[in-house]
Amino acid sequence: MWRIRKTKEPPAYKKYIKTTPGVCFRSMPKRYKDLLKKRLLNDQGGICCYCGCEINMDTATIEHFYPINPPKGCIVLQNAGILFSNMLAVCKGGSGNKLHCDKAKNNKIPPFSILTDACNENNFSYDKKSGTVTGKTPKDKEFIRLLKLNDETLKTERRNAIEGLEGLSSLECKKMYLRLLHRNENNCYKKYAFVLRSYIYENFICL
Ligand SMILES: [Zn+2]
Repeated sequence: MWRIRKTKEPPAYKKYIKTTPGVCFRSMPKRYKDLLKKRLLNDQGGICCYCGCEINMDTATIEHFYPINPPKGCIVLQNAGILFSNMLAVCKGGSGNKLHCDKAKNNKIPPFSILTDACNENNFSYDKKSGTVTGKTPKDKEFIRLLKLNDETLKTERRNAIEGLEGLSSLECKKMYLRLLHRNENNCYKKYAFVLRSYIYENFICL
């Protein structure tokens, strides 16, 4: 994961929540949800904020970082459902008993916010052979556990992404480390950009 930096909410959405009494996320018209999703995808460069896979208008869903209905005794964020600053774009999160990302998170509150500097991409380490992610600090480890980021599908996807670096020289990897911060012509990051950056940082830069 890497820190997500967000822009402001779309003006039409701001007007809608200001002028609509009793507005709630569930009953919000699709056109506003689509407007929000488009902005979130744009902010995140078309990748899931948790696993880093590619997402688009058809495959992404809107996730609330602080849950709308948190478990008893947990922090309640006022207007959590409609606050743009609390929304993130995520992947479908698997199915059946193989859930990950927000589907695994459900209404739980992660140990830190990925919207702050507490989220440090260099605190995540990826194993080339298995695609397993490990966290540096107890909070990073807890985040991985909560979101089930070591789900088999995700491990395979990450392993494939890291294998894509094979054949590149150390210098080429270092150049790619910087390039991964840039978006393509569709304003999107390369899928698993933060996975690749962390891997390159640990194996080619931080030696
Ligand atoms: Zn995901």
